[in-house]
Amino acid sequence: MPAQRDYYQTLGVSETATTDEIKKAFRRLAKQYHPDRNPNNPQAAERFKEISEAHDVLSDAEQRKKYDQLRRYGAFAGSGAGGKGYGGPGGPGGAGGFSADFDLSDLGSFGGLGDLFSSIFGRRGPDSEVEADEEVEAAVSIPFRVAALGGKVPVTLPVSEVCPTCGGNGAAPGATISTCPECKGRGTISFGQGSFAVTRPCPVCRGKGKVPSQRCPTCQGEGEVRVEKRLMITVPPGTEDGTRVRLKGQGTRGRGDVVVVFHVEPDRFFRREGLDVICVVPINVAQAMLGSKIKVKTLAGRHIVLRVPPGTQHGQRFRIAGQGIEKNGRRGDQYVEVHVAIPEHLTPEEQAAIRAYAEKAGIRY
Ligand SMILES: [Zn+2]
Ligand SMILES: [Zn+2]
Repeated sequence: MPAQRDYYQTLGVSETATTDEIKKAFRRLAKQYHPDRNPNNPQAAERFKEISEAHDVLSDAEQRKKYDQLRRYGAFAGSGAGGKGYGGPGGPGGAGGFSADFDLSDLGSFGGLGDLFSSIFGRRGPDSEVEADEEVEAAVSIPFRVAALGGKVPVTLPVSEVCPTCGGNGAAPGATISTCPECKGRGTISFGQGSFAVTRPCPVCRGKGKVPSQRCPTCQGEGEVRVEKRLMITVPPGTEDGTRVRLKGQGTRGRGDVVVVFHVEPDRFFRREGLDVICVVPINVAQAMLGSKIKVKTLAGRHIVLRVPPGTQHGQRFRIAGQGIEKNGRRGDQYVEVHVAIPEHLTPEEQAAIRAYAEKAGIRY
């Protein structure tokens, strides 16, 4: 278990991401988890804090450099080898005390990283991170009709998978594997002294305790590769904007979850009110005054004939029962809202006709 979530993972970007990509990822996530959009949701608030923190560090070239340096030394690696915390007073829960008392000069080459280091190790309890670390989040846009009626959409996700060349051990085919000289095979190294010692995965062997004579050419010894994974995702009928669906075991190394957040695209014709769908249909003045029959498309794609009675008003709604969204055994209706189009230009003859009508009807203008 890492001491702190990996900032790159937090933002869902690769470690080679450009500042632009980092900003984009941040904006997308920040919008989604902003407290204004998630009132009374402490998890969203916490996530928002993490996203902001990750962005603060990674968008600052100087801070990012320092962070990358620390990260290379395994301070945040997900290998879990250094999980058993800090050994200080109070055990892992006493992490806050650790950050205050730890002598950073013990770190030697980490000089000057004081603030960053303590902010990384000091802040959070170790409990809430296991699940989140293995989680890949993907925002998926779906057409209005697919959201309303249900369906399937293809999604491409960047996930880490076990390297197919080396099977995860990081060794080139045929390479000999020997005990790591850095950690003497323990897989961990310790910073600091005494009760404040911190154990971390060994940066040379990445916690494996063994090193190959030659690194795997496919993954450069990482043991895993980033791949674009294509999935068909089922969209349940009546899916609303912002709905989250968890796909178990579809993420990192086939273990982590993928959380899909649906974004429902607006439709040109339909909009939604609960389980009802509303559509606007224009009619002309003669239809409004004299009555008419109009053709209307339903959500399911059928065309039905709707009778508009004489004297129909602009904005009046007509219900087509049972043609709305079906969800959990309930079914909404379709409402047709008619908009009366007033002619913009009249010929002199047409004007005369309207004047004659006004006189007959006794209306003044
Ligand atoms: Zn490999
Ligand atoms: Zn090692």
